[in-house]
Amino acid sequence: MRLKGKTAIVTGAGRGIGRAIAIGYAHEGARVVVNYSRSRDGAEETVRTIQAAGGEAFALEADVSRLQDHDHLISRAMEEFGAIDILVNNAGIEINEPVLESKPETWEATVDVNLKGAYFLACGVARVMARLGGGKIVNISSIHDVEPLRNRAVYSITKGGMLMMVKSLALELAGHNIHVNGISPGAILTDMNRKHLTEPARRDGLLARIPMKRIGDPEDIVGAAVFLASAESNYVTGTTIYVDGGLLLF
Ligand code: NAP
Repeated sequence: MRLKGKTAIVTGAGRGIGRAIAIGYAHEGARVVVNYSRSRDGAEETVRTIQAAGGEAFALEADVSRLQDHDHLISRAMEEFGAIDILVNNAGIEINEPVLESKPETWEATVDVNLKGAYFLACGVARVMARLGGGKIVNISSIHDVEPLRNRAVYSITKGGMLMMVKSLALELAGHNIHVNGISPGAILTDMNRKHLTEPARRDGLLARIPMKRIGDPEDIVGAAVFLASAESNYVTGTTIYVDGGLLLF
């Protein structure tokens, strides 16, 4: 068990990639705060899955775009588990909008969750980690941090920002024994893209660009997430691992 005795907060863990990471961490011995904003049933189901396997977890509502929710998330994690060793900034939204139809609301909503929420939650948790002697912060970005996605300019811009956020935080927090890294998934089948990927032409077009010839599952992200949260990555900071079946090679 590579995370035995560790405590993790995973944002957006009621479904998709966050859910898989929360269950994966618990499987490795971590106690997990399963954050959600709207998916209460999903978060409770994640908790039940963890508990049924003998792990420890609880569900906690917090909207990461609301900075006032961060204190609650951090203080409840501390009350319940007494430490925060790992933060996974997984929560993210993607809005389909051509550049020529760009609206300020799309910018604000996307930046508030994907970048502002992730940044300030990392800062708040880092203050706790610094006091406790260190920790691991894992940010779920996207291959669109380096390759733009058509009709998702704002999403791509936030993920590009996250790439620099990983490096900036890593540089300043290394002296506090806090490791900051990123994971950039390729195409992973979740609610974010389910509709898009069930259209055969789109799915086949995408598959043709993936050297490993399959769409990923949320569980495909867990190995990198465990590695970056565990002692195995103690000399790794400021880097982003691309988990994309080779999509970026195309
Ligand atoms: P998803 O199934 O749509 O899940 C999105 C998650 O983000 C949900 O758990 C949602 O929680 C949470 N979330 C959204 N707004 C939130 C807020 N304000 N506060 C707290 N949580 C919030 O998508 P996913 O694919 O698992 O996405 C997870 C991460 O992976 C995202 O950062 C995404 O950009 C990234 N990613 C995904 C792919 C892919 O192909 N799927 C590829 C690259 C990167 P609630 O339902 O509780 O609101």
